[in-house]
Order: sequence, then C-alpha cells, then structure tokens
Amino acid sequence: MVPNNSQRNDTELNNEWIPLTPLEQMEQTEYDVLIVGSGAGGGAVLSRLCRSWGLNGKKIGMVEKGGLLLPTHFYNISTYSLPRFKRYFDQVSSPVKQTLFRELFALGGRTLAWQLVAPQMPASETVDWPVPAKELAYYYSVAERAMRVSSSYQSGSYYTSILLDRLHAYGFPEAVSMPIAVDRESTKYGQLYSNAAFSSIIHLAEALNSRPYDLAVHANAVEILTEGKRVAGVRVMSPDKKSYTLKAKKVILSASTFQSPRLLLASGIPGQAIGHYLTTHSLLGLTGYFDRRQFPEVLGALGILLPGQPGRPYQVMIGGPPEEFNAYQQYLVKPLQEELRVVAGAFGEVESRYENQVTLDKIEKDEYGVPVIKVDFSYSERDKDVIRQMRLGVSQLFAAMHANRVDQTEGPLIEAIHDGGTCRMGVDPAVSVTNPYGEVHGVSGLFIADNSVIPSSGTANPTLTTVALAIRTADYIIQSSSLPQR
Ligand SMILES: Cc1cc2nc3c(=O)[nH]c(=O)nc-3n(C[C@H](O)[C@H](O)[C@H](O)COP(=O)(O)OP(=O)(O)OC[C@H]3O[C@@H](n4cnc5c(N)ncnc54)[C@H](O)[C@@H]3O)c2cc1C
Repeated sequence: MVPNNSQRNDTELNNEWIPLTPLEQMEQTEYDVLIVGSGAGGGAVLSRLCRSWGLNGKKIGMVEKGGLLLPTHFYNISTYSLPRFKRYFDQVSSPVKQTLFRELFALGGRTLAWQLVAPQMPASETVDWPVPAKELAYYYSVAERAMRVSSSYQSGSYYTSILLDRLHAYGFPEAVSMPIAVDRESTKYGQLYSNAAFSSIIHLAEALNSRPYDLAVHANAVEILTEGKRVAGVRVMSPDKKSYTLKAKKVILSASTFQSPRLLLASGIPGQAIGHYLTTHSLLGLTGYFDRRQFPEVLGALGILLPGQPGRPYQVMIGGPPEEFNAYQQYLVKPLQEELRVVAGAFGEVESRYENQVTLDKIEKDEYGVPVIKVDFSYSERDKDVIRQMRLGVSQLFAAMHANRVDQTEGPLIEAIHDGGTCRMGVDPAVSVTNPYGEVHGVSGLFIADNSVIPSSGTANPTLTTVALAIRTADYIIQSSSLPQR
C-alpha cells in the first residue's frame, strides 16, 4: 500500500524542498569544490560559484552537519512571533560551553535566526586588513546586492526621521537609517515575491536554479584530508557513525568561528594562529523614554545606526518601539504608545588577542570521536575602556535625541553573537591562518569562508563582511581554476 502524506516521515517530506544527495553517492565523485557548512559564508560561496560557472561541468558539493530545520528565515514564517521563535531558538541552538555564544547546526546555519542588520565595516577600521580598500568596497556592494540590503524600508516613518534629524543637528551627523537584509522588491510585471528576510537558503536556491550541485545534510565533517601540501578531501560521518571519504581538489571550510578551527586542529593542519585571536563585540543596552507628544499621529517604526568612527570604537543600533511593533503580521492593530520606549544597543570593538582562543580539549571527545573545543575569552583593559566609553556615549545620544529620561539600570554586559577571527586572514603565517584570499597558509586548495577569517572585530555586525569576503574567495577560486594547472 502507498503511504499517504500523514504516514510518511518528516525527512521524506522535507526532502522535497531542496534536493539531497546520499553520502554513498557523493563518495563516488571527485569534487572540484567541496564546501563544509551552509551558513552565511558557505551559502555565499556556493551561490557565487554556481552562478559564475553555470553548466561548465565542474563538480560542486556541500556537506552540512545539521538537518532541514526551516526552509527560510523565521521572519518569513508569518506565524512565528518573536518571543516564540526565541524560545524555539534556545532549544534548537547549542551554547558554546562556558560562553554566551551560540551555534545553530542546521541547513542555513545561524542565518535562519539572525537579526538582519547588515552594515559595512567603517573604512577606518579596515586599513590594516590585507584586502585593498577599493576591492573591499566593491565586494561590499556585491554582497549588499546578494543579500538585498536596504536602508529605505522605513522611509516615511516619522519616528525614524525626527530622531535622525535631531541626531544630525546635535552632534551626530554620521547617523543613518539602519541597513537591513530585507528584499523590498514589490510585486511587478506580475511576478510574486515571497521571501523578504535574507537567509543563506536564498543563496542555496539561487545556486540550485543556476546549475545542479550535490548537498548532504546530517553530514558531519570530522577530518580534512591532505596529500603532502595539498588538500585531498574531507572525511564525513553520518549520525549512524558511518564514515565517508569525499574527494575534492578544493575544500572550503564554512563551519563557523568555532568549528572551522576545530576541524583544522583536529586534522593536524599546522599553523600557529589557528583558533587564536577570537573576537566579538561587547554589547550594552540602554533604554530611553520619550514623550509621545513630540511625534505626530502616524508614528512608524524606528531603526537608526550610528557607525563607529575614529575616536568612537563602538557602533550603536537604535530601535523601537521594542518587541514586534515593526512586523505587521503581529499586532495587526498597533497599541497606542503613551510613552515611547527606545532601545539603544552599543557594540564595542574587541581587541584581537592571542590568548582569546578556541583550543581542543585534551580529554573530552564528541560522539564522533572528535575532541570538543575549549574557549578562553576575556576583555582586555582596552576593551573595558571601550565599554566605559559606550555607557557615556549612549547617554549623550539620548540627550541629543531629547529623551525625557534614560533608564540607568544597566543590563548585564554580554557578548554579541558576533564571533570571528579564529582563522583570520593576513600575510604573515605567524599571526594569521589564511592568505588574503582565504587560502590556508601552507595547504594548497584549502580555503576558509566564514566569520572566522575576519581580521579584526571592528564595530560593525559581521555577516555582511563574511559574505563579501566569501564572494571574493569564490572569485579567486574561479580565476585560479581558469589558469593552466601546474
Ligand atoms: C540570534 C542571532 C542574531 C544575529 N543577528 C545578527 C545581525 O543582525 N547582524 C549580523 O551581522 N549578524 C548577526 N548574527 C550573527 C550571524 O548569524 C553570523 O555572523 C553568521 O551566521 C555567521 O556565518 P558563518 O558562516 O560564520 O556561520 P554559521 O551561519 O553559523 O554557519 C556555519 C554552518 O556550518 C555548519 N557546520 C558546523 N560544523 C560542521 C561540520 N563539522 N560539518 C558540516 N557542517 C558543519 C553548521 O551547521 C552551520 O550550518 C546573529 C546571530 C544570532 C544567533
């Protein structure tokens, strides 16, 4: 008897929204490029390679440790209220032991849950990066198009324009409308658009619609395979602990700030800087209150970004009213705001220090036999000074915006989930893991494309930068593949 839909298991049904390839089949292929991880970095590389190469016969594969959790960013699921999603996220994501960082092992990685804020790193913060400023600017613009970043979604909102005007007039001319990765394309030429909030599932879809590639989920990369000084492939294990050897001429690790160095270290890849120079942003939130009568009847939602700049080593994101006021599927009727509550979150630059690190635990291993990681992270004296500056600076911002009062009860100081740096790019192998194109020093064909390559924390949220650098790495691979091979 043929089972009906309610009798089939989830995996069979899920399979229908993205084609999957069994690992047994992937073992029979020698890949030109094999990508490990499908989050921000992995999705960007895959999309760029597939779109640029088209149907040229190259073999591309991707392995993802997690399963098919959500087919899109949670904002695009109209029944998901923010509080309910937060509860779900806490259950499905994994804390990085002894830290406040979290990982999400799922197709799409943490881009299923990110908050979509996508600013460029200020140019003054990238002068020491090993990427020429002009090239970085070009790749930022490519990444913004790829992620549909827009600052105009709140055009017409008095809430934003009035406070922005006050900031401009009272000492903060660099404040801008918050850039977020939300596609504002309206339905036109009769074509419907239904996937506004960006996740890397959009990149996986663009890749799929350009050419076929092989994708395996529940495929946990456990070892990078090398032959001499070249990469040769990846050993992958399925949940039933079967081991598969996937051959590849080029391997791109996009497994995250924590898992990419773990894989390098567990595979014995040499490199003094692997796992070191872990960065993030210190995060401090303050709430200000405004008299409702300062604003006209139609309020709108608020989203302002104050980028870091020389002399101000932090960025501030200003939003309100809090909760779900800016999502129109929730609160169909907006409750009257008698007093306006504005939240300002400051993200502080964190120094790149050798001792902030991801290392392998000498004893404990996971169920696949791979050592688990140990994370050491603390703030330096300079980081603590930045945090002091943030407290003062945010109070000045509220004064410039004419807040009636500011809640001085300081919330706990936490780290943003803006991890990076553990495989940072650079020219000197003593203090960096990859060359300026993301290729691991000393191992030809092994690349990294995720937050871990970001050379220093700067002040901007990291994901746009990761996507920009990942696309640049893909272009480098495309160009070097068209050169005659030695
Ligand atoms: C709640 C929340 C809000 C956020 N908001 C913002 C924001 O507004 N702006 C911003 O810029 N950033 C934000 N971030 C951070 C953003 O999500 C990350 O910067 C980004 O997703 C990092 O991309 P990545 O490729 O490095 O890693 P990830 O997106 O985490 O992807 C890593 C992928 O690798 C897979 N993987 C790991 N190990 C293996 C293995 N051994 N084998 C195979 N696959 C593996 C994982 O399952 C995952 O799919 C937020 C994060 C969270 C959690």
